[in-house]
Amino acid sequence: MTIFINGAYNLTEHGEATSGGGAWIQENSNRNLSIRINDTLASKDSGELTTILESSYQITSGTQITFIIQSPTILKNLTINLASQESRGWINTQDKTLYKAIVAELRLRGSPTLLRTYNPRETKQKNLAKILAQEGLQKQQNPENHPQPIPELDISGICLAGATQALLYKGIQEQRKTAPRRKTLCLLDRSRYAAKQLSGKTMTDAELWKSIRQRSHLPKGIRNFLWKNLHDAFKIGEYWRNIPTLEHQGYCNLRPNCLGEETMEHILLECQVSSATNLWKIAKTLWLKKDPKWPEIIYGIILACNTADFQARGKTQPGKNRLFAIIISETAYLIWKIRCERVFQGDKPLEAIHSKKALENRWLQCINTCLKLDQLQANHSKYGKKAMKESLVMDTWSGILMDEENLPKNWIWQSSVLVGIDPH
Ligand SMILES: [Zn+2]
Repeated sequence: MTIFINGAYNLTEHGEATSGGGAWIQENSNRNLSIRINDTLASKDSGELTTILESSYQITSGTQITFIIQSPTILKNLTINLASQESRGWINTQDKTLYKAIVAELRLRGSPTLLRTYNPRETKQKNLAKILAQEGLQKQQNPENHPQPIPELDISGICLAGATQALLYKGIQEQRKTAPRRKTLCLLDRSRYAAKQLSGKTMTDAELWKSIRQRSHLPKGIRNFLWKNLHDAFKIGEYWRNIPTLEHQGYCNLRPNCLGEETMEHILLECQVSSATNLWKIAKTLWLKKDPKWPEIIYGIILACNTADFQARGKTQPGKNRLFAIIISETAYLIWKIRCERVFQGDKPLEAIHSKKALENRWLQCINTCLKLDQLQANHSKYGKKAMKESLVMDTWSGILMDEENLPKNWIWQSSVLVGIDPH
């Protein structure tokens, strides 16, 4: 018997995911299925996985089934990668409960089960299964429906003989997973809203976390800074509110000129007395040389700065996206560092190093350092395969360099290249 499977997945702007699955056997068959997956299991592949499982339940054991599926990931995990996945205990695999339940069920069937992806002649069946999956999405979810592997056939744990230390560590981390804090969820939502503005796509929490971990775009200090921001992990503002005798530390340290509570938003964007507004102005001036659109900088845009997707003629522009992430994150991080210097210097005067001109020069120096590092990292003879692509470095910085028209075409090996902006 041949069963055509397809899935549907939807992510709302609040990050709520829903999944559905469809199984088409033949016209008007009472064994065609249209399923809404329990929302706690919703993912891109869970619709197809659950439908494979439910279809298998209703076909008599002993009947050979051929499943035609859409997702190449599912095909690999259930065929060529099955042995290695089982010896790894399915660690770090999304939908692992569903995979384990399917493997247990198919082993119980007592007849061979074939699995392959659609071929071009099966577009009609694929679409019919897709329609059933879309219908499934519209149904009410059944919170009771939580497929679990049959206990006797559930191979659990890792095969120790082949386990590496890194794999065991991942296993421990997976066991320790705790529910995210309410504040983190709220910040993820703000970040998601901004990411939609910057990329046109609604992103999952996992995609947002991944965006701030990308090594090629953001240096370690900045990745940490953004990570802590998303976790609301800085001891500022509200943190001091309930600590007797230290409540005053929760207010902007530029009082009496500024009376605001010192939230991260206040430090980075709202404080009118600090240098923040001025630094964002120069950041904008530099960016406008690259692109005429400069979004209103809100806190979410800083958190989601690495999700931008600027397009030209329908094509994404990796260099421009990267420059946007660099400018936004470097500016925010510098404003934070300046604030910390002020707090930790206490009463010592900082006028000389915190004068408007000195801070503008420092900002410029930060951006120029990023440019220099990019040039150095593009050195293939030194870094081999790990070297950054020359074309990416050129795409990132072209258009904003000083005296660019007089630079050689391949300016990457010139040591004196600087970003072309003079704030004075
Ligand atoms: Zn302030």
